[in-house]
Amino acid sequence: MTLQLYNSYSRQIEAFQPLDEGKVRMYHCGPTVYKRPHIGNYRSFLFADLLRRLFDSMGYDVVQVMNITDVGHLVDDADDGEDKMLKQARQEKLTPWQIVDKVCAEFFADLHALAVRPAHHYPRATDHIPEMVKMVQKLIASKHAYRVGDNVYFDVHSFPKYGQLSGNRIDELDAGARLEVNEEKKHPADFALWKSDPSHLMKWETVFGEHGFPGWHIECSAMSMKYLGQSFDIHTGGEDNVFPHHECEIAQSEGATGKRFVKHWLHTKFLQVDGGKMSKSLGNVWSLDDLEERGFSPLDYRFLIMRGHYRTQLNFTWDALRGAAEARKNLLDWRGRLQAAARTSDSACRADAAPDVVEAKQKFAPAITEAVEKFDAAIADDLNTSEAVAAVFGLRNAFMQDAFVGANAQNALDFLDRVDDLFALFPTNGDDAEGLSDADVEALLAERVNAREQKDWPRADEIRDQLQIAGIVIEDKSGSVHWHRS
Ligand code: AMP
Ligand code: ZN
Repeated sequence: MTLQLYNSYSRQIEAFQPLDEGKVRMYHCGPTVYKRPHIGNYRSFLFADLLRRLFDSMGYDVVQVMNITDVGHLVDDADDGEDKMLKQARQEKLTPWQIVDKVCAEFFADLHALAVRPAHHYPRATDHIPEMVKMVQKLIASKHAYRVGDNVYFDVHSFPKYGQLSGNRIDELDAGARLEVNEEKKHPADFALWKSDPSHLMKWETVFGEHGFPGWHIECSAMSMKYLGQSFDIHTGGEDNVFPHHECEIAQSEGATGKRFVKHWLHTKFLQVDGGKMSKSLGNVWSLDDLEERGFSPLDYRFLIMRGHYRTQLNFTWDALRGAAEARKNLLDWRGRLQAAARTSDSACRADAAPDVVEAKQKFAPAITEAVEKFDAAIADDLNTSEAVAAVFGLRNAFMQDAFVGANAQNALDFLDRVDDLFALFPTNGDDAEGLSDADVEALLAERVNAREQKDWPRADEIRDQLQIAGIVIEDKSGSVHWHRS
């Protein structure tokens, strides 16, 4: 079955065709680590994980990258306002670097709790300043960008396709720009690639001046291309990333390379809470901790997300979460019964109804085949997880209403393994494979020591992240490293 995906760029459903046979390279806009990500962010990150699990299960050689934005994301998502990192640091009376460490630890612990398969790279913006500077220089050389003092802007008029992803038009953007528009810009719709600010706490001395920091958009262009090449298959983010973030990424990347940047753009619809936007003033910006405090497992939340199609509105309420938790419990319960039945092999497992084994086999074999087909067809149809879950429950309900036998139980369990491989709903299944043995941990720690000695900070950070997401807590104490499992 060919996988069909909705491409936000063409606004059409397209058959997925990787750029290189057998390989999938994908990039996801990750968290801005000024605050622990909320459950809305995890809707987008769980969608990224679903894609990863699907491509793994299809046998592709996958390279998955999710960035960590730790500088340059300003409060209004564009060129004005304070850096989110700095604002938070000021409020918490910490340094921005301390905030980064704290929030990254929370983020990786959340990913672990949500049974997210670790991406291959979690690059941090602050570790990739040279790559960004190089790209900005390239854009200046090719006249897509211009310097004004120590600032650098992208000239949107130099890239006629600007607006294609979001449906915006340059003339309308210029006309609609706010009055206090930056006078330095040639056109109001131009955006910053590099900004100078001596008071910024995270700043770098570069060819552009003494105190500069990157624009948020250039970070994702530079990091994605470093790990995935100039053209790659899939780029995702939440729907708010379409404009300006992804529109600007396309302009910068294609402006710099002259090649198509991304083949398939996929965007997750926002998770709403109580029918509206999550907001601090309403006190409904929930984290995974809040869910756990009310007795829910992170996997209940995962199931709530999986039950909705990623392009349809999803409204979070406590009742909806309760419903998802109950439904997941029903699946777990059914799976337990199937396991018990499979252990009794071909014998009838419900003594009270004990049907003839052969007849029962005939009865359920087609139902299982049908459920598998429906499930696979739904997933192939632009990841219609909602329909896929309905197929699982259809089969469960048929089994629960009737007697069943061991042989069928094993077939149904095989199907549930496939469901779990994509959705990760059952706590003790599958994900053990992602766990690290003691020897793996020791080897990674030794590699981290080596990377630090070589001053290869990105690799050292990457290893720390990989360990964190596998639930390994590292403590650097007076020159030696201790670790334990969380
Ligand atoms: P941020 O930390 O703001 O950079 O956001 C990280 C990712 O989460 C981005 O891809 C956002 O588009 C996504 N995101 C933010 N809020 C939500 C939400 N309510 N529902 C789904 N995705 C979201
Ligand atoms: Zn991004």
